[in-house]
Amino acid sequence: MTEDPFVEERRRMVEELRRLGVRDERVLRVMEEVPRHLFVPEHIQHLAYEDTPLPIGQGQTISQPYIVALMTEALSLRGGEKVLEIGTGSGYQTAILAELAGEVFSIERIPALAEEARRRLALLGYGNVKVRVGDGTLGWPEEAPFDRIIVTGGLPDLPDTIWAQLAEGGRLVAPIGGRYDQYLWVYVKEGGRRRRRALCPCTFVPIIGARGWPEDRGGPFAGGLGPGGDGRDV
Ligand code: SAH
Repeated sequence: MTEDPFVEERRRMVEELRRLGVRDERVLRVMEEVPRHLFVPEHIQHLAYEDTPLPIGQGQTISQPYIVALMTEALSLRGGEKVLEIGTGSGYQTAILAELAGEVFSIERIPALAEEARRRLALLGYGNVKVRVGDGTLGWPEEAPFDRIIVTGGLPDLPDTIWAQLAEGGRLVAPIGGRYDQYLWVYVKEGGRRRRRALCPCTFVPIIGARGWPEDRGGPFAGGLGPGGDGRDV
């Protein structure tokens, strides 16, 4: 990766993440290294280091850098973990995970996005990533259990299919709530029990699937009145 014109912009982005309270030096280091501009459409590459989500086609978005940092930090990766990601999208979060964990299994619902992410991740040399097309709300049973699970789209609640695929002592990060606004939660499996802590309010595109949201059928009010989260702590 010679001649990267965005080195300085990435440095500034990381300064901003620090200012916003991101403390994990490993997360900050990889975010300073991974070229986010290669994960967005060419005509908006100049916006890649702004702290904002950006459109990646197919009605989907690449998550805001601060949210990527926050979710990655909450996973507490120490190296060597087996990670499941639901919602590959651009593959940017996947790359960050691949830098910090052992292996990453990532599921994307839209074939064109999965294909593009696969190509990018291969070009950048990530040999420890597998991307598959499918409904991530069913998880990846053949590869379970996972030490960490990250869901990068909003869910009405946490499907037990996914919870069952988290290893004992494992951590899971997911946005849960309404179709258009959620809370970011971190879950820990301790003695088979579920503990959780809220990180912040957030807005993700919906996870659509058997255990997620139904497909938006369009219309001005479509999807606005979904179930409002999964209640309080267990
Ligand atoms: N981490 C990604 C976020 C992409 S947005 C990035 O930063 O680029 C969330 C993604 O989840 C979208 O690409 C969407 O197509 C995908 N998605 C929605 N429902 C899904 C499902 N049931 N299984 C897998 N992926 C899904």
